[in-house]
Amino acid sequence: MELKPVIWTAEVVYLGFGTPMLEGGLVVVGQHVVASGPLAELQARYPQAPVVPKGRALTPPVVNAHTHLDLSTIPPYPPNPEGYTSFIQHVIEHQAWRTPQAVAQGLEELRRLGVGGFGDIAYRPEGVEWLLEHGTFDAPWQGAVVYLEVIQRDPTQAEAVTRRLAQQLAAWRRKNERVRVGLSPHTPFNVSPELLKKLVEVARLEGFPLQMHVAESPEETEIMTQGTGRLQEIPRRYGFPPYQNLPGTTPVRYLAELGVLGPHLTLVHGVEVDEEEVVMLAQSGTRVVSCPRSNQALGCRPFPWALYLKHRLEVALGTDSRASSPDLDVRNEALFLWERVDPRVLVRAATRNGYRVLGLPTPRITRGTPVAQVQSW
Ligand SMILES: [Zn+2]
Repeated sequence: MELKPVIWTAEVVYLGFGTPMLEGGLVVVGQHVVASGPLAELQARYPQAPVVPKGRALTPPVVNAHTHLDLSTIPPYPPNPEGYTSFIQHVIEHQAWRTPQAVAQGLEELRRLGVGGFGDIAYRPEGVEWLLEHGTFDAPWQGAVVYLEVIQRDPTQAEAVTRRLAQQLAAWRRKNERVRVGLSPHTPFNVSPELLKKLVEVARLEGFPLQMHVAESPEETEIMTQGTGRLQEIPRRYGFPPYQNLPGTTPVRYLAELGVLGPHLTLVHGVEVDEEEVVMLAQSGTRVVSCPRSNQALGCRPFPWALYLKHRLEVALGTDSRASSPDLDVRNEALFLWERVDPRVLVRAATRNGYRVLGLPTPRITRGTPVAQVQSW
């Protein structure tokens, strides 16, 4: 039986390179793509082929550039006007839930979604080890980065902690060639400046990627600039030493002054920024990931897309964890913004920009690509 060509179309068709097409299409014969281009052109070339609408977008497999798989089983944070600080408390109170079993459940969800890759922050070394052992992929172009979370505010520990982490990463780095390892200094206020500088040195020298939550909430800006605000309740409540010797400047300016910005760093959130800070991020080559639904759930402001686009900083998308997002499907992050941000920007954010965060080339849809490697959303 002869296979007949069919034209797939969607609001946006992105091939993994070039400009995403509005009114574009793919010609599919059997299980393979045989042509792509503007819909009108394809219809002229294949006049007998039926046109099949495939929804909002046709793209290479998407990438979830920021999540915490070990939070996959904790009860979701109820949307709460008290916002970010209460969310941190919710996570602290469920630390015992951050197990390899939770990582397994999160990984299963990502597999079901058919992601091309993911960036994951593991709270415990066991979480990293579990992913190194079980993080396998079907296609050769897929991959992941797992970052071990670092929280340490005591500056006298900086030297010892850096030495220990550098050894740990060196031991892990060759265990799974599809899962790279890196570090995640939690936030600018949860790691001492001494430690942060040393970690960046190691990252640059050894080529380890860093991922850090920065400029997420107004509470973070308040504690960084004035040393006050609701975040100070956390050390009081859990008996940690109080936040002190804070820098008196905004999170991004602080990181710029410390020399932490650069292509080795992926900054997650980047909501509380002014234009000068976006320029600092753009010029330093720092990568940025936005998690829109999590920002909304935590009562944070919306991400300033126009400001980043103005300075040509192309942003990736992440879901953050299941504690602040209803699922790990990064397509739902893009669809959440579909009416507010140019969809061509969003499809690149969900694909190419995510692969860049992971240090992977973006798979391309060309003549001969199996349709299994095309996601319709
Ligand atoms: Zn996060």
